[in-house]
Amino acid sequence: MHSTYAHILDGKALAQRIQTQLSEQVAQLLLENGRPPGLAVLMVGDHPASTVYVRNKERACAKVGIASFGRHFPSETSQAELEEVIQSLNQDERVDGILVQLPLPDHLDAVSLLRQIDPDKDADGLHPFNLGRLVRGESGLRSCTPAGVMRLLREYQIDVKGKQAVVVGRSILVGKPMALMLLEADATVTIAHSRSENLAELTRSADILVAAVGRPELIVAEMVKPKAIVIDVGMNRITDESGQSRLVGDVHFDSVREIAQYITPVPGGVGAMTVAMLLHNTVLSYTRSRFAH
Ligand code: NAP
Repeated sequence: MHSTYAHILDGKALAQRIQTQLSEQVAQLLLENGRPPGLAVLMVGDHPASTVYVRNKERACAKVGIASFGRHFPSETSQAELEEVIQSLNQDERVDGILVQLPLPDHLDAVSLLRQIDPDKDADGLHPFNLGRLVRGESGLRSCTPAGVMRLLREYQIDVKGKQAVVVGRSILVGKPMALMLLEADATVTIAHSRSENLAELTRSADILVAAVGRPELIVAEMVKPKAIVIDVGMNRITDESGQSRLVGDVHFDSVREIAQYITPVPGGVGAMTVAMLLHNTVLSYTRSRFAH
């Protein structure tokens, strides 16, 4: 029996509390303004994980009273067709947030598509304007997954100021904005990636370790500093020895929980927070568009 297991950073419970607060706010906004906030999640093709994520996002919208304008397109949909849809959603006053579910089929250019989204409706914070605001430390719509991680750290009163933070992964979706948000909170940040030498040495220096890699259980106990705070962004579906399919993170939970101080579970950690932050961003866009202009 281990009495020293890491504390769990319960993203699921916090996401539920955030959603309860949002549903109260949404009900009030509907009463005051006669329409609920609206979110359009666009999905192209039948990527199995994306199907689950999109369904979760739409269910969460329904729960808090946000109207869904999502659409599902066949995988052969053209760039021009999607651009046209985005343009019309940009004009649609019922829509406050637009999200393009990634990854997209290979023939589509995600970067150019994301650029078509009105930055004030960019619910995932991936438009160059919003990324630029983040680099400059200005307020704006923030990328949901790293914003969810920061919110979770705040909830557990984990102060990152002055701490060594190591982010493994440098994608525009997670790694880079995560590193910038930690920097904004005064951590000393290192970004590791597939070309980094001595990964284990880098990760062992981390007081706060964020794994956003997409490699099942890459981070094992020997790569983690005792009493570190370990955030697992990874969501990988694997088939285990018994032929069962299950979801695992980028962190080997069972070994790392024996030495870390705090750890996020998969599922029930960062994934749940991502959805909550998406709803938060949609409500933020709504209130800004009504009151800020
Ligand atoms: P991605 O675009 O594939 O980026 C992966 C990053 O990891 C890249 O920067 C890559 O380095 C680096 N990397 C790959 N193998 C490595 C290795 N062996 N050692 C060190 N670095 C390595 O993935 P992503 O979109 O950032 O997503 C990462 C993970 O998070 C995935 O499991 C994804 O499913 C999950 N995710 C979860 C949520 C959530 O809500 N929880 C949201 C988004 C993503 P290079 O740049 O050098 O190639």
